[in-house]
Amino acid sequence: MNPESVLQYPHATPPEPGEVRAIAPGVHWLRMPLPFALNHINLWLLEDGDSWVIVDTGIGNEDTRKYWDVALATTVGSRPVSRVILTHHHPDHSGNAGWLTRRFNAPMVIAQTEYLACHSVLDSRAGYDLEAILAMYRRNGLTAENETKMRTRGEHFRKHVQDFPNSYSRMLDGMVLSIGGRDWRVLVGYGHSPEHVSLYCEDEDVMISGDMMLPKITTNVSVQAVEPLGNPLKLFLDSTRAQAALPADTLVLPSHGLPFRGIRDRVAQLVHHHDLRLAEVVEACKGPTAAAEVIPTLFRRPLDAHQMFFAMGESMAHLHLLESEGRVVRTIGNDGVLRYSSAGR
Ligand SMILES: [Zn+2]
Repeated sequence: MNPESVLQYPHATPPEPGEVRAIAPGVHWLRMPLPFALNHINLWLLEDGDSWVIVDTGIGNEDTRKYWDVALATTVGSRPVSRVILTHHHPDHSGNAGWLTRRFNAPMVIAQTEYLACHSVLDSRAGYDLEAILAMYRRNGLTAENETKMRTRGEHFRKHVQDFPNSYSRMLDGMVLSIGGRDWRVLVGYGHSPEHVSLYCEDEDVMISGDMMLPKITTNVSVQAVEPLGNPLKLFLDSTRAQAALPADTLVLPSHGLPFRGIRDRVAQLVHHHDLRLAEVVEACKGPTAAAEVIPTLFRRPLDAHQMFFAMGESMAHLHLLESEGRVVRTIGNDGVLRYSSAGR
């Protein structure tokens, strides 16, 4: 299915970095660069009476702060910032939360699990550390060669989130935030991060979807070392299907890609995409197969060290969903490696 064929993109070109563009009543769009294959993130500014509410902050580097300075010197600086909302804790969203909340003496608003996960990663505690991740991947067939490659990635998270606030204001699923006289409902979604928040404004029929609903790429859904038998793909697909309950012409503001309409078509595309991928994984597991060996089926291109982290986690996520549905059986080899097989069910 070709996304262009069903989704509508009412804004063909994104704003330049540092530019603030009105996109819906009371809602403004900023775009910041990212130093990755995924080269940008969308951030949002909401009018809140005499102040602004910031939604997501960009990666914590000089480049992004330079563009924030441009935006602050022009549009934003005319009013104070009353709140900094984070959809979730990943570095491209949380990187400047410390810097911005300090600058404006504004509270950070985030779901509790996201707040705690961010601090755990920054402190390498509670299973959120490289050794725990690599140990889980070894148990899922990671080769010594790929492990060596992955160790070269360095401190990815800490490099991009140098500081993170030590207090927060909590968002809960179903909570309504009043911003500029409009109600924004908190929609918690699972599978991409522990307690990801999307915000839906019924008055304007706009949803800030974060990473839970992207128009062209599929959201990363990975098993985490803190929950090595977790089933994040089931959680993600359940959360995705729930979004089809929103009005069909909702304007979706994603963190990556262009704003679009066609949420129900996008839900159908994503469910279809994962159905196909899951069938391919079953096919690849005719005999006992480790998650690492499924990667070439899911990713038909060479992967760098950074992409290998996501690929291992994604491969495991597919196998765990299939195992929960009884479509593959999990066994542990004499070498301690977990393998999955569709034969002999
Ligand atoms: Zn994310």
